[in-house]
Amino acid sequence: MRRPIVIANWKMNKLPGEVTSYIKDVAGQLDKFPNVDTVLAGQDVLLTSMVTAAEGTSIKIGAENVYWEDRGAYTGETSPAALANLGVSYVIIGHSERRNYFRETDEMVNLKVLATLRNGLAPIIAIDENIQLVSSDDHMHWVVNQLIESLKGIDETTAAQLMLAYEPTQAIGSGQAMNAENVQKSLHIMRATLADMYGAEVAAQIRILYGGSVRPNNAFALLSQPDVDGVLVGDAALDAATFVELVQLAE
Ligand code: PEP
Repeated sequence: MRRPIVIANWKMNKLPGEVTSYIKDVAGQLDKFPNVDTVLAGQDVLLTSMVTAAEGTSIKIGAENVYWEDRGAYTGETSPAALANLGVSYVIIGHSERRNYFRETDEMVNLKVLATLRNGLAPIIAIDENIQLVSSDDHMHWVVNQLIESLKGIDETTAAQLMLAYEPTQAIGSGQAMNAENVQKSLHIMRATLADMYGAEVAAQIRILYGGSVRPNNAFALLSQPDVDGVLVGDAALDAATFVELVQLAE
């Protein structure tokens, strides 16, 4: 019942002149894969042209960050109301690059999630894993705690709209994806936490993705795991043909 989803996170890699041809190339192939949702997330300066290029296609557009106030004197920040007005559908919140380079805390992530939902946008909440704890027994404690803190104030009527992305920091951009069985173990614990918070029925509706060095040669094993509902992809998704290959593997 959870539709698979493939999300590209372009990060700060694409230029305005590269948007239209990429989206055209992808959109031309998607009719073959009607069972998979697709989202392209780009930096703010690209969003207008991304939304325009995706018009009339099944591709949804996402932002990579957002501020938690709707309007006001916050020079340089991005309003969730403006994103919604522009036609953006999703926002990645709490990516590990934002947590590590820009010092985003769980509290900030939570405010952004609430602002996103308030404006009718769907949050993709990235949950990372502390590199120092990865090999210890305690590593899931970190993940679960981050999950609970990020979702404060969200009740079961809204929770089904959430999407979570488990992204172990050491797997992001390293070429070393976490192995599929370990991903499943982590996602199973995340879903059990959601069931404790919102009940099993709601938890069964929330899509949980894996992100971290997903490539065509590892995507199928990852996507075959029962709790993996999709993938969030950085480097590999910079190439339109590779993105389509990943969509095909998710179908
Ligand atoms: C990401 O940044 O969300 C990501 C998963 O990157 P990569 O696929 O390059 O590891």
